[in-house]
Amino acid sequence: MEVAVDLHAHSVFAGGTQALAITPEKKSINQKKAISHLTKTNQTMPLKGIDLIGTGDCQFTLWTEILKEILSEDTDGIFFLQNKRQTRFLLQTEMIFTAKMGKYSKETHVIFLFPNFPLVEEFRALLDGWRVKHQKMARPFIPCQSSSQVAERIHSILDLNPWVEAIPSHIMTPQGVFGSGKGNIRVNHLVDFFDSVTSRLKIFETGLSADPEFLRLIPELDDKVLISNSDAHSSALHRMGREYTVLSTSRIAYKSIISALRNNHVLYTAEFPPEEGRFFLTGHRAGRKRPGFHGESDYCYFSPQHVPSNDVCPICNKSLTIGVFQRCVEISQAQEGKRELGDVISPRKFIRMVPLIDILSHVLEIKTKTAKSLVNKYRQIINIIGPERMLWQLTSEDVESMLNGHIEKPILKAILEVKAGDFTFKPYGFDGVYGTLVIGQRGNYKNVNVIHSSKPIQQTL
Ligand SMILES: [Zn+2]
Ligand SMILES: [Zn+2]
Repeated sequence: MEVAVDLHAHSVFAGGTQALAITPEKKSINQKKAISHLTKTNQTMPLKGIDLIGTGDCQFTLWTEILKEILSEDTDGIFFLQNKRQTRFLLQTEMIFTAKMGKYSKETHVIFLFPNFPLVEEFRALLDGWRVKHQKMARPFIPCQSSSQVAERIHSILDLNPWVEAIPSHIMTPQGVFGSGKGNIRVNHLVDFFDSVTSRLKIFETGLSADPEFLRLIPELDDKVLISNSDAHSSALHRMGREYTVLSTSRIAYKSIISALRNNHVLYTAEFPPEEGRFFLTGHRAGRKRPGFHGESDYCYFSPQHVPSNDVCPICNKSLTIGVFQRCVEISQAQEGKRELGDVISPRKFIRMVPLIDILSHVLEIKTKTAKSLVNKYRQIINIIGPERMLWQLTSEDVESMLNGHIEKPILKAILEVKAGDFTFKPYGFDGVYGTLVIGQRGNYKNVNVIHSSKPIQQTL
């Protein structure tokens, strides 16, 4: 059977959580928020057509208590919200590993999946032993002295049980293993960060700013399983299910899902457009304070072939934030140096899509994605077509014949244009800012060289 999964999400506790401990009232308000988040998630996932979602932050005590109280186990390792069986949940979290590399530390996020609550408790005991501050942060840091200590600790987590899984998340962003982070540390081979645990890591998350086409530039990932998840921090329609993975599996049970992932029974992934991702191109955004000052109209962004030498910003003369596109090209060259974007190397199917609510927001010119009028229009379309997943799975002809006469013409036109790939972003995503959607035209992200500065440019390119 086909099962759509989203194995990376967060609870409402993933932001700052220290306030929770201050007063009992605050604690109860946040508990209410957390339960409401779970209820909304439960209602939203069926609209998206996603069968199974990660709980996020499953080791964070306050959240674990809520999960234990309001979820009940269905089949092994798969949970439902009591009395409201709409969505299935699986115990999942994300940790931030840091390893000292020269003067700086490299940060890398890793998702963990657990088959049951007792193993989550055992995991928490490991964190206690390492003095990780997991009571204050739902997504805590695991500081390590070196890559060998990173490996030692991931080995310990995986050794808890053969069904615990570790998945490096959004691997190309500055917070992912291959992304350029603080001090522009470059990890060009997995072993440089994951050391001896590298061979146990089989599944990798593409992240919003990359997709299988970009990751196929990297030879080392050829035999890895690439999956996609939303990394949603809210239950809003434009965040949930903005990426997901469709697996072929015999049943929806924890072990079947893990086996399908490990054996690469991925039918396809649905991908957020990489060009929209917050770290797609290399650049510096307007108004940034550090490093270097940019006025409100000073920004620059570049595709790899146009990045100034030594990655120095022509406006503030500090190091640019290196984008995912540039990192893919650099790692490709470091590992083999022969691949070009668009080369067909053991391709597996994937769909590029734009969340339907974003298309509606664009056409109807309503910026607030949670606006009632947008959500109503969204539901009107879902009522005809079925869950949003079908919009991307069905052919354009089918979508057209189903929607024609039932929704406004400009909306149908925009949906069909997105399905045909006639959309771009102006600008593309860069330096922590999402790209801005434009429907009805195509762009060329391989040839971008934009510098906008209110003061004279000092550096010659
Ligand atoms: Zn992350
Ligand atoms: Zn700058």
